[in-house]
Amino acid sequence: QAVYFGHVYNDQPHVLSVTGRIHQAMVTSLNEDNESVTVEWIENGDTKGKEIDLESIFALNPDVAPEEETAPSPETPPPPTPTSVKVNKIPKNRRTIAPTKNDTPSRDNRVVSTRARPAQPQQLEPAPPVQQPAQPTQAQTAQQLANARRKSNCVKEVEKLQEKRERRRIQQQELREKKAQEVDTTVPNYEILYMIRDFRASLDYRPLSTADLIEEHRICVCVRKRPLNKKELTIRDLDVITIPSKDVVMVHEPKQKVDLTRYLENQTFRFDYAFDDSTTNEMVYRFTARPLVETIFERGMATCFAYGQTGSGKTHTMGGDFSGKNQDCSKGIYALAARDVFVMLKKPCYRKLELQVYATFFEIYSGKVFDLLNGKAKLRVLEDGKQQVQVVGLHERDVKCTEDVLKLIEVGNSCRTSGQTSANAHSSRSHAVFQIILRRKGKMHGKFSLIDLAGNERGADTSSADRQTRLEGAEINKSLLALKECIRALGRNKPHTPFRASKLTQVLRDSFIGENSRTCMIATISPGMTSCENTLNTLRYANRVKELTVDTNQVIEGVRPNIHVVDQLDDDWDHLGSSPQRDDLKLLCEQNLEEVSPQLLTFHEAVSQMVEMEEQVLEDHRAVFQESIRWLEDEKVLLEMTEEVDYDVDSYATQLEQILDQKIDILTELRDKVKSFRSSLQEEEQASKQINPKRPRALL
Ligand code: ADP
Ligand code: MG
Repeated sequence: QAVYFGHVYNDQPHVLSVTGRIHQAMVTSLNEDNESVTVEWIENGDTKGKEIDLESIFALNPDVAPEEETAPSPETPPPPTPTSVKVNKIPKNRRTIAPTKNDTPSRDNRVVSTRARPAQPQQLEPAPPVQQPAQPTQAQTAQQLANARRKSNCVKEVEKLQEKRERRRIQQQELREKKAQEVDTTVPNYEILYMIRDFRASLDYRPLSTADLIEEHRICVCVRKRPLNKKELTIRDLDVITIPSKDVVMVHEPKQKVDLTRYLENQTFRFDYAFDDSTTNEMVYRFTARPLVETIFERGMATCFAYGQTGSGKTHTMGGDFSGKNQDCSKGIYALAARDVFVMLKKPCYRKLELQVYATFFEIYSGKVFDLLNGKAKLRVLEDGKQQVQVVGLHERDVKCTEDVLKLIEVGNSCRTSGQTSANAHSSRSHAVFQIILRRKGKMHGKFSLIDLAGNERGADTSSADRQTRLEGAEINKSLLALKECIRALGRNKPHTPFRASKLTQVLRDSFIGENSRTCMIATISPGMTSCENTLNTLRYANRVKELTVDTNQVIEGVRPNIHVVDQLDDDWDHLGSSPQRDDLKLLCEQNLEEVSPQLLTFHEAVSQMVEMEEQVLEDHRAVFQESIRWLEDEKVLLEMTEEVDYDVDSYATQLEQILDQKIDILTELRDKVKSFRSSLQEEEQASKQINPKRPRALL
């Protein structure tokens, strides 16, 4: 395996090297005899090493090539000797982290790269004094003298070397001049741009290809980067995302030191797959949703989610390419999955099952379900005694071929965005669920749910001044947290998963249980520097979804970093009484204390109670309304009775009193409910004010 030399960072004599994967290697010695250095790195827990000649290092890293003659002279300090360059420990003040034990970049693996200025070849200078004696020892000087003597014995060799150096110097000079000309200082953040460019030049790219193995994952988490869009190109936003290999994503986050020097904090994440901006939908589909088609034929449940910030490419991935205003839904994962369902249906082993294919398409907005195949009719979600969740009245359309499915997707899409000024304005706040259902003699055989989730940045809207926005934000926040928990619980016999905490997870509940359920999450990210913070949030979330599935200890034992808070919450919650939804919400928040502050939890609780009350008030109001019609009829009959000459006054009075009593009782009850509903509205308002709005972190 070749080890290529990368950069010298932070003026430290260590390098980043690449062996297909990215290894950070350290210079452990400088070998003057043969003009080489020894580098070491850790691979699978073992220390590995390699000798690399300086020539090739300089070729790959023009910046670190010495500008001047490096031969020792009385005025300049001698070059570092092997003992003085030895840097086996990583200095504390650097945020660079050594390779992880298992040799794979994981969450929060940071590699910091800096370049003071373009074309400033000072990086190979001696390491800071901490690691290096200021003056060479006597023994070292003697050694150098001996070396010098040896060299004078072979003058020819020295001359050759000098010639080489001279040539190199000229080459470097030319290269630097050329580079200096190339530097376009009109680009905003051009320093960052060149740092990223340099960093990328040091990488060995091995993108995913069709030849790569499609692995079997119960839970697959991958990332897709979209290209810079017109808007970003117009403002000359920088692309800060690099996908060097089939499963690694790097974020080059611009940072600034106290002395205002700018540097990059490179964060590396690893997923099952990483798709770069040249990847087609078909290719993304091939590694994500396609393996799940078989699942539903094997009587399983499958889910595939697109998760990310608004504008990062969720709809493009799930629904299909937008060219201009029209969406080519035949290129979306919905349609590609449907296509393969019909292909599979024809296979002899499945044909004999006589399966029927149905499709549903609905939207979940602010905790409410709307049927996109039935004029956005609002649907109720009910749970029966056996914990079976039903979306009452959801239209399940019979589909016979891919064409049928495409038509449904079009109908649903236009229904979804009708009356909206922009497709994204509405879709950023709602989850769209497209399902392909297989039935055998009417009975459910398998179900594939494909979900275009609400923009994850909207989950932070909980402290908005506007109630509607707050409620949307609360529901999105809850549903994305609950989704993570449901995926985490997938297949594990956990006693209870807080699926009732959100409508999304409640509706999808049956897809998260059972031995034969599989899921896939496609985290979509925008490449721009302006999206850096949202992108990091997306990657961290995606990382947790998968990380949790790896670290079984953490899942089984559960992490309770702050028991005190939990106890306190218990008290707070008790006096409010409970409901299945709120119990689940509480559980969900306990499982996510890192992300849910006590204030946010109080707010969620207030929202939850408010929404429950709203439902009750509406239901009761409807009942009272119906009852009123009956009263009117009764009263009409009663009044007609009084028209008669000899009507029964006693009976009239008794009956009227009965009706009025009934009315008063029922109306009083409704009025009391409305009163508490109103106070819960106020509570929600108060709770929302307790949440500190997230301080927007200024991007450079
Ligand atoms: P989201 O649904 O996440 O809000 P969209 O899917 O609507 O984002 O994408 C936003 C814009 O970016 C759209 O104009 C879309 O065409 C474009 N886009 C997204 N992903 C890609 C991609 N992989 N290649 C090219 N354009 C893309
Ligand atoms: Mg969208």
